[in-house]
Amino acid sequence: MDFDSRSPVVVLAGGTGGAKLARGMADVAGDDLVVIANTGDDVEIYGAYVAPDPDLVAFWLADRIDERGWGLEDDTFNVMDGLRELGVDVWFNLGDRDLAYGVRRAELLAEGVRYTDAVGELTRALGLSSAVLPMADAPVRTTIRSGDRTLAFQEFMVRERAQPPIDDVRYEGAAQASLSPEVAAALRNARAIVVGPSNPVISIGPILAVPGMAEALRESPAPVVGVSPVVGGQIVKGPSAPFLTWAGVEVSAAGVAEYYGDLLDGIVCDEELPAGGLPSLRVDTLLNDVAQRRRVATDVLSFAEGLRG
Ligand code: GDP
Repeated sequence: MDFDSRSPVVVLAGGTGGAKLARGMADVAGDDLVVIANTGDDVEIYGAYVAPDPDLVAFWLADRIDERGWGLEDDTFNVMDGLRELGVDVWFNLGDRDLAYGVRRAELLAEGVRYTDAVGELTRALGLSSAVLPMADAPVRTTIRSGDRTLAFQEFMVRERAQPPIDDVRYEGAAQASLSPEVAAALRNARAIVVGPSNPVISIGPILAVPGMAEALRESPAPVVGVSPVVGGQIVKGPSAPFLTWAGVEVSAAGVAEYYGDLLDGIVCDEELPAGGLPSLRVDTLLNDVAQRRRVATDVLSFAEGLRG
């Protein structure tokens, strides 16, 4: 994509809620979609450089996501079985073809290829026409402190099943990261910026922690619209609730809006928000099937366009 001549719809996303919305948005915005994906969950394991959120977004956009919600459809798990036979503690499960993405990314990065370009090669191989951009080229790692232990994100999430109490969240390396030229241009030229319905603290928080990102959102002439990950008063999947509580906000659209503060020009949610506050659009935001994803994406875009004036 030529990032200077297009006026994209930009979606900030983690791997589930944001990725599902991005898939709906691809139907509405076509090739003009740019997804900025969280890389705070990345993990180097089995000799691979695994990037769960950029890959999940790409698998969703390519209609290759497995119905379990992660990994590639119809993948096999022979390498994991082989590692177990070798006595390896396989706590992080990856399909064979899924692992191939991580192995290839590790090779490209070792050759000195920029992270953005490595993801570009992988998404082109998937046949994607929309762009998936890692939030930054430099490594950022989300860590969770629980008591006197500091856990890497995947250790907390997968090995310990998000059970440990959350005492602190850090985005290690964020201060040394910067906006890639592609991310900066996409935000500068965007016609709408959508903060997807992802975990605000661990999926969107790392993106916003990249120096210059929040300023780029504020300075972009595009409206910035959030989509609440709270559906029917509940989190659909994953540990967003304890992270919102840790951040000191309610598990509700109002709490999510409070977390994002003045970054948002509006929010889409299924709750009634107080009049006179942040502009909101109240619609059903469940993204379970193609029709729902397309309808929510259409509603989000027209709400954003209405805010521009
Ligand atoms: P992760 O990297 O897999 O944790 O992905 P995300 O952070 O993108 O996704 C988790 C968030 O997605 C949770 O807060 C969910 O409530 C939200 N989510 C999942 N499915 C839906 C949905 O259908 N609609 C909405 N609005 N949010 C959803």
